[in-house]
Amino acid sequence: MMRPSVKPRVAFFDFASCEGCQLQVINLEESVIDLIDIVDVVSFREAMKEHSDDYDIAFVEGSIMRPMDAERLKKIRERAKILVALGACACIGGINALRNRYSVEHVKKVVYGDADIEGNPFFDVFHTKAVGDVVDVDYYVYGCPISRDELAKVITSLALGKKPEIPNYPVCVECKKKENVCIFEKGGFCLGPVTRAGCGAICPTNGSGCEGCRGLVDNPNTDSELDVLKKYGLTVEDALGRFDLFCYKYKGEVSK
Ligand code: SF4
Ligand code: SF4
Repeated sequence: MMRPSVKPRVAFFDFASCEGCQLQVINLEESVIDLIDIVDVVSFREAMKEHSDDYDIAFVEGSIMRPMDAERLKKIRERAKILVALGACACIGGINALRNRYSVEHVKKVVYGDADIEGNPFFDVFHTKAVGDVVDVDYYVYGCPISRDELAKVITSLALGKKPEIPNYPVCVECKKKENVCIFEKGGFCLGPVTRAGCGAICPTNGSGCEGCRGLVDNPNTDSELDVLKKYGLTVEDALGRFDLFCYKYKGEVSK
């Protein structure tokens, strides 16, 4: 493996999330040996006690739910030369954005009941934001959870000063390469035609429709999606209903 002349200093940070994407980093197993050869990990709360604010590359997991999160994220952005959003929560709001279907007041009432929330910064929440809604993001590692292989490739590219290649074609491409019988053919529903590839079409390959955890491809081919829906007797509303889980963020723009 090529090695950089100077190892970049890498830090991992978490916001609202299940921390499953950080767990994927810890689970890199055999690739970890290669990666610690090319980067210095200086901060990673889930995996080590040491912490440094001197880093080149920040990997940020989780979505931004509170003003205090946004302030912390801005400080991370100021310190990092490169900021990478890690996983669906950070990239597109993820599951946390489900609550954006309701008013903030309603959500607070359901979660905190009659607790005294006035003036308490921990309870001071706003509608869920992706990391890119608050600061500039250089690269995105999509998925819920992220793909370990993709992450290893992204870290390697960044360490060598190269631009990571993030797929910008739909899951259907990977699904067809695997010669799967289409989920629509089996009477199911799938967001593969408009979702960004990179997961190896893992859900349709294992018999479930894609739920869109990697977000939409840039410029999704909505004409082709409409053709697919029509062919299988489905409507745009059927498709948009499936956006709720991961792609709520896109609903407004797609239904325009
Ligand atoms: S719609 Fe889903 S199951 Fe069908 S080809 Fe595309 S990814 Fe595969
Ligand atoms: S098939 Fe869809 S839902 Fe499943 S991992 Fe890939 S992008 Fe996510």
